[in-house]
Amino acid sequence: MTSERKATQAPSLGDMPVDEFRQYGHAMVDWIAEYLSGIEQYPVLSRVAPGDITAKLPEHPPASPESMDGVMADIDRVVMPGITHWNHPSFHAYFSISASGPGILADMLSSALNVNAMLWKTSPAATELETVTLNWLREMLGLSKEFEGIIYDTASVATLHAVAAAREALNLRIREEGMSGRADLPRLRLYTSEQSHSSVDKAAILCGIGQAGICKIPVDPEFRMRADALGVAIEEDKADGWLPFCVVATIGTTSTTSIDPVPAIAEICKKHDVWLHVDASYAGPAAIVPEYRSILDGCEHADSFVTNPHKWMFTPFDLSAFYCRRMDVLKQAFSLVPEYLRTATDDVARNYMDYGIQLGRRFRSLKLWFIIRYFGAQGIAARLREQIRITQQLAKWIETDPNFELMAPVPFSLVCFRYRPKEYAEMLATAGDDEIAQMEQEIDGLNERLMETLNASGKLFISHTKLNGKFTLRFAIGNIKTTEDHIRSSWEFIQSEAAKVKKSQ
Ligand code: PLP
Repeated sequence: MTSERKATQAPSLGDMPVDEFRQYGHAMVDWIAEYLSGIEQYPVLSRVAPGDITAKLPEHPPASPESMDGVMADIDRVVMPGITHWNHPSFHAYFSISASGPGILADMLSSALNVNAMLWKTSPAATELETVTLNWLREMLGLSKEFEGIIYDTASVATLHAVAAAREALNLRIREEGMSGRADLPRLRLYTSEQSHSSVDKAAILCGIGQAGICKIPVDPEFRMRADALGVAIEEDKADGWLPFCVVATIGTTSTTSIDPVPAIAEICKKHDVWLHVDASYAGPAAIVPEYRSILDGCEHADSFVTNPHKWMFTPFDLSAFYCRRMDVLKQAFSLVPEYLRTATDDVARNYMDYGIQLGRRFRSLKLWFIIRYFGAQGIAARLREQIRITQQLAKWIETDPNFELMAPVPFSLVCFRYRPKEYAEMLATAGDDEIAQMEQEIDGLNERLMETLNASGKLFISHTKLNGKFTLRFAIGNIKTTEDHIRSSWEFIQSEAAKVKKSQ
């Protein structure tokens, strides 16, 4: 085996010798720098078929040591063909997220330090940096000082903690006695819009609310939760014996980035004494841009709030910032301290393990610290502002092309649109219901094929959703390297491929 290491190259026990670490550490940084600077040579979407990567890997683990040269060579041979390049400036699927230089460096350091931020004592710097960077971010977002923060891995996990805290706030002794078989418990009801993320449903399922306990509130024509419908639903549920306990509002929904009317929702929550959690996972960072600060209006009345620096703040995956105005309730829900984790500073220093399901916690705040310091609040705001500007530019190009149509308002950096050749537009205006249904099916088919063709080209990667039953293309902008030139050439490519798809219909 060519990559087998000679027994003399390393001690048989112990770690990699420091000289070897330094040699391959430099090689790795060089590799990453080459990768990032040459990112545009790769097809955005990986072209492998299921099982292709597995086929390149031995079935059994190596019994004897292999050389680092062999391991490094396999990054290009085995791993890279199976990478979909989220760092590519033409990655526009889902939400376009990107790592950044300072964030990558911080993650390297976090791995090297390998601390577990479970207790203050297990690394005071990890705990205190987490508190301070979250306070910085809170100030950048313009959130009230009443919010205290904790870092989780993802928004899904943050929302799960919010729903668990909302349940705990009811003081129904669920922590102590559970829920099953209890005739004294009312049925709990959680409210969220038809457009909210599936993580809200998962949180409710995990907290024993059940899918039947989730009430999906309808949205208005701009995909925002209808506050009037929320008010009515809560009143009706109360009359039917439900106990409304939590509302999850979204600022920047997944399909269209619509903004729920949080001020009106907050008033309803206050009236009925219901926990309000705001999911601003994607759009939250836009509030760092002074002109967009008002998107968080009403959040001062929320009980909890989540935003993901790993979505739209150039932070390498993963880092989700969760803020809560009732940390005591979160602690009441999650704190459980066995003897072996007691410390002398428990009363004077925060132990983040008390505020979540995980004991072991990575040193994630390092990357937030590096990023905020390297770019500064103004630098982050400038980048987000530019991304919103080029998104608006794309929306204008789409709007003025008679063969395309916008499918939703564009408040941030996502455009929802579809290809609808102009002859269809003319026919749709006068057709009867059956003909319309037939034409809509054809238009859906055209768009599905267009998306497949575009993504197979390797030049860009977009995703889709369904809006009012119509297949809709989603073009998200958020990569730190994306420029107006990238967007222009992607748009021209979309136009020309659409015409080809139509021709081959
Ligand atoms: N909430 C919203 C609005 C989202 O768009 C997403 C993901 O795109 C999530 C929650 C889940 O985020 P995460 O992957 O951090 O769990």
